[in-house]
Amino acid sequence: GLSGAGKTTLALELERQLFLKGYQAYVLDGDNIRHGLSADLSFSPDDRAENIRRVSEVAALFADAGFIVITAFISPYRADRDRARAIRPQMFHEVYIKADLEECEKRDPKGLYKLARAGQIPEFTGISAPYEAPERPELVVPTADRTVAECIDDIMGHLQEHGYLRAFRAADRLLRDQAHDR
Ligand code: ADP
Repeated sequence: GLSGAGKTTLALELERQLFLKGYQAYVLDGDNIRHGLSADLSFSPDDRAENIRRVSEVAALFADAGFIVITAFISPYRADRDRARAIRPQMFHEVYIKADLEECEKRDPKGLYKLARAGQIPEFTGISAPYEAPERPELVVPTADRTVAECIDDIMGHLQEHGYLRAFRAADRLLRDQAHDR
């Protein structure tokens, strides 16, 4: 989704809730990737592609280690997302955090749209750089006029539906049985 659509907010809340349920969940976002591993990259199309490639490879390694990895990136180009998908096609779920430009610009949580409109941020997605919306994402989460809790329910429901929360249900049953035996 666009800047301000709710990716970071939802990613961190999802991470928190999964952690409380006993899962190893980890958010990859601009803060921990753009400032470190990808600190050498700009926002040109080539560098955006390279950034998403690095994020995808790191996410794949975390996923191999048993984590539920939540990547909160704009990733504006369809081709970059398709390449990410190709690394682990069975595990990759494209989640479109959906709010239109008008709504995102109204929120402008970091004041970035204002700066972009004033020409102070070059290549800003939605303003001076393209955004290719997902065509067939695994999940669409509309965020306008909805609470964070409602959006998280959508994502939890999706994880449940696709069997990612089974381990928890099994562990839950085990704990219940043990309590019953005592
Ligand atoms: P992004 O990471 O996509 O750039 P952020 O999460 O940084 O977006 O900002 C989204 C803003 O929208 C926050 O200020 C958040 O409080 C607000 N917001 C309003 N409704 C929602 C919602 N349903 N889900 C997520 N964020 C929401």
